[in-house]
Amino acid sequence: MARRRQLYEGKAKILFEGPEPGTLVQYFKDDASAGNGAKKGVITGKGVLNNRISEYLMLRLHDMGIPTHFVRRLNMREQLIREVEIIPLEVVVRNIAAGSLAKRLGIPEGTRLPRSILEYYYKNDSLNDPMVSEEHITAFGWANSHDLDDMTSLALRANDFLSGVFLGVGIQLVDFKLEFGRLWEGEEMRIVVADEISPDNCRLWDAKTSEKLDKDRFRRDLGRVEEAYQEVARRLGILPEAANGDMKGPEVMQ
Ligand code: UDP
Repeated sequence: MARRRQLYEGKAKILFEGPEPGTLVQYFKDDASAGNGAKKGVITGKGVLNNRISEYLMLRLHDMGIPTHFVRRLNMREQLIREVEIIPLEVVVRNIAAGSLAKRLGIPEGTRLPRSILEYYYKNDSLNDPMVSEEHITAFGWANSHDLDDMTSLALRANDFLSGVFLGVGIQLVDFKLEFGRLWEGEEMRIVVADEISPDNCRLWDAKTSEKLDKDRFRRDLGRVEEAYQEVARRLGILPEAANGDMKGPEVMQ
């Protein structure tokens, strides 16, 4: 099959030109990085699993009336998405203290927060994705207050819904990161959920044992990383057909 033109390569994904205008193909790699690229590695089969997990969660969000960039999965490692104008912010929603919040504010990991807390980070690798406030976002024009209202309400609705989906399979949604894009349809613009939703950008703890089932296993060298991603897919009922076959999938040709 003729390969499509590569438009962008990130740490965990590659974007190719889509088959028709306004679409892109998102390819999921097995590469993992942490600490803004300070730690690098490969989690075998991660791309295949994240492609499936993100497909499943994006479709569930869509069913709940939360718009996303997802169109359909194409194969083991690729999905068709709508081309959007990415808003340069990472929106983090937290339910339980962990990671940078626990460290910054001295709150023990695992403490249930008094309410869900939303944070914004400016997407800029050379600045290490600094945390920013609504004031910074509107003053520097990354998003206007209407965009921000949309992102906030979509993120909180996604949190309520995804918390329920995960709790249903014995997993606590501790925190997660969303990215949003502007989707233009003629003169109309809608803000939609973009990027991916997977154990790469969610903290997922077993509801009974608090065992970590997410990228923290890689970040913190806890071992059994592949198994954790598989366990999330298994519980959601979406282990790929080829789980017993070639999890490496086809190599990307450029
Ligand atoms: N996160 C992410 N990409 C980033 C930073 C964070 O997907 O560049 C996710 C991370 O997986 C976690 C949540 O956002 O689910 C909150 O991360 P935190 O701010 O605690 O940062 P970390 O401890 O991962 O550095």
